[in-house]
Amino acid sequence: MRVLQRVPLCFLTTLKVGGAARMVFVAERKEEVAAAALRAAALRLPLLPLGGGSNVLLPEWRGAVLLLRTRGMVWEDAGDTVLLHVAGGEPWDAVVARAVRKGLWGLENLSGIPGRAGAAPVQNISAYGAELAQVIAAVEAYDTKAHRWRRFTARECAFGYRDSMFKREQGRYLIAGITLRLRRTAAPNLAYRDLAHFPFRKPAARLTPDEVRRAVLEIRARKFPSPLQYGTAGSFFKNPVVTPCAAQKLARQFPGVPLHAQGKGMKVSLAWILEHVCALKGVWQGDVGLYEKHALVLVTREGATARAAIGFAKAVARIVREKTGLTIEPEVGIGARDGMRVCTEDFLPATKNVHGVS
Ligand SMILES: Cc1cc2nc3c(=O)[nH]c(=O)nc-3n(C[C@H](O)[C@H](O)[C@H](O)COP(=O)(O)OP(=O)(O)OC[C@H]3O[C@@H](n4cnc5c(N)ncnc54)[C@H](O)[C@@H]3O)c2cc1C
Repeated sequence: MRVLQRVPLCFLTTLKVGGAARMVFVAERKEEVAAAALRAAALRLPLLPLGGGSNVLLPEWRGAVLLLRTRGMVWEDAGDTVLLHVAGGEPWDAVVARAVRKGLWGLENLSGIPGRAGAAPVQNISAYGAELAQVIAAVEAYDTKAHRWRRFTARECAFGYRDSMFKREQGRYLIAGITLRLRRTAAPNLAYRDLAHFPFRKPAARLTPDEVRRAVLEIRARKFPSPLQYGTAGSFFKNPVVTPCAAQKLARQFPGVPLHAQGKGMKVSLAWILEHVCALKGVWQGDVGLYEKHALVLVTREGATARAAIGFAKAVARIVREKTGLTIEPEVGIGARDGMRVCTEDFLPATKNVHGVS
């Protein structure tokens, strides 16, 4: 296992900001994942697993970082479906590309999401009407509390909207592998608005998974900045989920606000609120801003700091609450000195979402 000392976090995260990590372990084999956990425990250092660093904002990290770089994919025939076993360090989009090239269905709508496969279950990645929970069969992880390997079924992962048991117990589990169940039979999922309006050249029933993937990549290219242009972690905040009754009120107050069913509640388009109610799209404070083409995407440019990014995000959350009464929370994991605040309670102190789903 390679061990690096004092590594600047701006090189390990796509927001390109942050202080230094005291120590970084690089695990290229599964045994090294367990070895890193034991070494961190022996040194009494909290251990932060990182994949591509595309969903974190880390001002500093006094503990150790584990970079999961294990690789490998194994395909297993399971009748109508194919089980795909993927090592946690595989780049997620390479997994999607391989699956669609084989003509398998299930991952095509999740094309173009940065990061590594091991992080995908953490926030139950979702895009264009699909979520990982629909295709995941199992997760294999090292339990840093019990110091043993564990295998979780999809049910045990307790997936929710951009949420899972792994996110709620941040840092406890080091995900070394995931198993996906993919379909051989055509099943295009084009219900999401952007895909429903996409000018495909043939009827939905005749599309291949690769054609859906290319459409998703084209749509995404219009919405997200190139990593060469800005630092970003994609959507910075979660879309708030409110009760159906609160959603009706919001729709009356802000005609045109897009609402989508989400579990027992309704998911409110925060990008729309930021653009049309708060007029924050494309607004910058110093070197941190909201992307001019997609208001939910917080971006940084050279000179930005992690503290400035957090300060800016808090200011955005405050404005949203003042204008709409909605409390929003970051989707991105925000690092404290020795732990991650995933649903940062102190992000907006002592407030409740007045429209919230209980
Ligand atoms: C331009 C852009 C677009 C994006 N679009 C989407 C999108 O459409 N949908 C979506 O859901 N997300 C999106 N994201 C967010 C992000 O890409 C995903 O959440 C991705 O799964 C994060 O992967 P990562 O390897 O970079 O994770 P990291 O940022 O490295 O880590 C994220 C979290 O997972 C934990 N973690 C990482 N690896 C492991 C592991 N092996 N075991 C246990 N815990 C681990 C970390 O501790 C951290 O809490 C986007 C990000 C960007 C920059």
